[in-house]
Amino acid sequence: MSGNRIIGINLYHVKIPMKEPFRISSGEVAVKDGILIELKIKTEDEILSAFGEASPMAGSFYSNETPESVWDELITHWTSIKDFNFDDFLDEIEKLNEKMINAGLSSYARAGFETALWDAYSKIKNIPIFEILGAERTEIESGLAVGIYDKIDDLIRVVGNELDTGNYKRVKIKVQKEWDITPIKVIRKSFGDIPLMVDANCAYTRDDIEHLRKFDEFELLMIEQPLKKDDLEGHAILQEKIHTPICLDESVDSIDKLKLAVKFKSCKIINIKIQRVGGILISKKFHDICKGEGIPVWIGTMPELGIGSAYALNLCMLDNCKFPTDVESSKRWYLDDIITPLIDVKNGVINFTDDLSFEVNFDKIEKYTIKQKKINF
Ligand SMILES: [Mg+2]
Repeated sequence: MSGNRIIGINLYHVKIPMKEPFRISSGEVAVKDGILIELKIKTEDEILSAFGEASPMAGSFYSNETPESVWDELITHWTSIKDFNFDDFLDEIEKLNEKMINAGLSSYARAGFETALWDAYSKIKNIPIFEILGAERTEIESGLAVGIYDKIDDLIRVVGNELDTGNYKRVKIKVQKEWDITPIKVIRKSFGDIPLMVDANCAYTRDDIEHLRKFDEFELLMIEQPLKKDDLEGHAILQEKIHTPICLDESVDSIDKLKLAVKFKSCKIINIKIQRVGGILISKKFHDICKGEGIPVWIGTMPELGIGSAYALNLCMLDNCKFPTDVESSKRWYLDDIITPLIDVKNGVINFTDDLSFEVNFDKIEKYTIKQKKINF
């Protein structure tokens, strides 16, 4: 019998003010919502706290889930992790994932519970998560992601200011109809041949294929999620007609979808997000399947708060991650965060702890919590 068991679960819905609103083709957010899942674990000699993060975007503009709907799921389904057995960790996580998928839990709720269990296991064993995944600590390159603005001048100012810091290895801009060729052209003109990519967040359809072919002249690293989420065949048709690599994000929210995308040849690159696929173990599976197929991947974010971001950084250690991550400096998006140290970027590389561990600041959690639920058993 394991000496390690969960004796309580605390849920916190926090809202952290953002430095500026983040706008993509389908909506805008000005405040970052996150749901923190704290597990109280009784080990043989102490009681420790482990944290997970469920991080759907407010207003359901990236997916159907909202912070409120995910909160309800977590409240309804906390019993699924209550008796978690830490003895055969990976097997137990596998079983739990299957159980949560069968129960219809969203990827966000699953990621929240699952990442908390990884943190718990990592703390019980005193081994970093990336080592449990079989990876070694290496340098992590960070890429800049920039939203949609009303004016080109604002876009150029923001990109210029961020590039002046010398802190990013590539630039990603969000695009949509009427906000694509011109901003790409102006960025190329203003900043030369910087590694540049675009993300459409599903803004186009098959009717736009001729238009999207115009993107090829700008030598982009990739175009992320150009077509609708469910149109894997459309992406395959588009990929045949353009030489810019397509990277899928929203489309591949399960292992089955990933396998279909591989089969159809819908893309040449995959963005892996813990929140979209539902946790660390499934992210690792995504990575391994893609590696086997010769498809390079990289690690995206919602963006998440510090907790979720730190777990994303662990995944960046996997050897088929071939492009900079979307994880940026904590201060890039948020006026504050709840972990210490904050994630920072220096000379294009993530500056964080060697073992990617962090402390959670409980005063800050209290400050930013709008809703809380404590479950003891
Ligand atoms: Mg994306």
